Amino acid sequence: MSCMKTHTFKGGIHPPEQKELSENYPIENVMPSTNTVCIPVTMGGAPNQPIVNVGDIVARGQIIAKNDAFMSAPVHASVSGVVKKIETRVLTGNCEAPCIVIEANGSDTTSFMEPLDPFTCSKEEALKRVKEAGIVGMGGAAFPTHVKLNPPPGKEIEYVLANAAECEPYLTIDDRTITEKADQVIDGTRIAMQILDAPKGIICLEDNKTKLIPILCDAINKAYGNNATRPDGTGNAITICVCQAKYPQGGEKNLVLSALNREIPSGGLPADIGCVIQNVGTLVAISEAFRIGKPLIDRCLTISGGAVETAKNLCVPVGTLVGDLIPEIIKLKEGVAKIISGGPMMGFAMPNAAFPIAKNTSGVLFLTKNETHLVDEDPCIGCGMCLDVCSCRLNPVLIARSLKANNIPMAVKYGLLDCVDCGTCAYVCPAHVRLVQRFRIGKCICRSQTATKQGGK
Ligand code: SF4
Ligand code: SF4
Repeated sequence: MSCMKTHTFKGGIHPPEQKELSENYPIENVMPSTNTVCIPVTMGGAPNQPIVNVGDIVARGQIIAKNDAFMSAPVHASVSGVVKKIETRVLTGNCEAPCIVIEANGSDTTSFMEPLDPFTCSKEEALKRVKEAGIVGMGGAAFPTHVKLNPPPGKEIEYVLANAAECEPYLTIDDRTITEKADQVIDGTRIAMQILDAPKGIICLEDNKTKLIPILCDAINKAYGNNATRPDGTGNAITICVCQAKYPQGGEKNLVLSALNREIPSGGLPADIGCVIQNVGTLVAISEAFRIGKPLIDRCLTISGGAVETAKNLCVPVGTLVGDLIPEIIKLKEGVAKIISGGPMMGFAMPNAAFPIAKNTSGVLFLTKNETHLVDEDPCIGCGMCLDVCSCRLNPVLIARSLKANNIPMAVKYGLLDCVDCGTCAYVCPAHVRLVQRFRIGKCICRSQTATKQGGK
């Protein structure tokens, strides 16, 4: 059932994995000590508007913010209770944005949708269900999932890839999700294949997680029956692909290259080469939206790092403030040098723990000084190591030089917009040049310049 040859891509690095800290801890359902959540009004897609007022009583699963635009995802109450405030808070990425603060009242009333059979409803009904459930990509950028499941006309989708590579060090929530919810991962994959009319699904794992293969095989056989075949008669419609454990294996470009030897064109999407990629958490959310009518209101994530007493995997209501889990759930040691929302390679350093867990928060790390690179940057010594490791085949040093010279068009010419912010180049740089931070700022400037030009037309 699985293709056992280990697949990979050119470039990449092998940072210490640190998965052993949390991988054996089952997902625990917990509530914040304050019984209060602080839910960002927008978590992916076009900006939402709150549709509740301070003082309103809301049920768990009720829509509290939305936007009618297609490229948007509504936000739901993750606890039942009273809307206490609507106020601006610092979110992951250190931007300020409006949040709806709800205090749980212990009533536990829910407002889920009616279950919907994904295999008998129309494609339009299915896409509407995914949108109404507020599902966004849970592995990274929080892109609205119904948009991904509705590629432009003419783009035929052959494969749904379930991204379980989880190549970021420390993070183990995708691993635990498969261990504990493999049936739902496979169900979500089948539903995505149905919506896209894609004949094949592939679960992509790194070769440090082969223990998950028998669990997935069981779930696939349960879903299809042992005799089920692909449309071409060659076996189950869902197979497993084992990729080499290497960072950034989970990046979309690297995943498709490793699993299918297909290359996403510059500026293109996986749909351009017949693929749609979904994180395993997103696939579970899709399954729940159809089977029990549940919107995306809970988030499973890893808590880890050398500065926590015990690393763990948790399931919390979306909007839980990380600080409200300390010290009851997250016990810290002395000497927290850095708090990161996400993984150490692509996550965001946060000034403190007073930020909410969003739909796409895969982990929160509390790192010691020894685990961080809190060093000053030196001038580039032209060693070329950043070129060797970039899996997108970019020249990071030339992009950085162009940005330093304020020459955005030149940076774009060298591939700024093809950079996936993986941080691999910065990781290996002996001069500690803040390459990826510069690229993120450069992309923001580039996008705002483009928006200004378009607005001036
Ligand atoms: S951050 Fe960008 S330039 Fe650096 S290795 Fe990743 S893709 Fe390449
Ligand atoms: S790795 Fe760092 S020092 Fe070496 S060429 Fe790249 S930016 Fe310069």
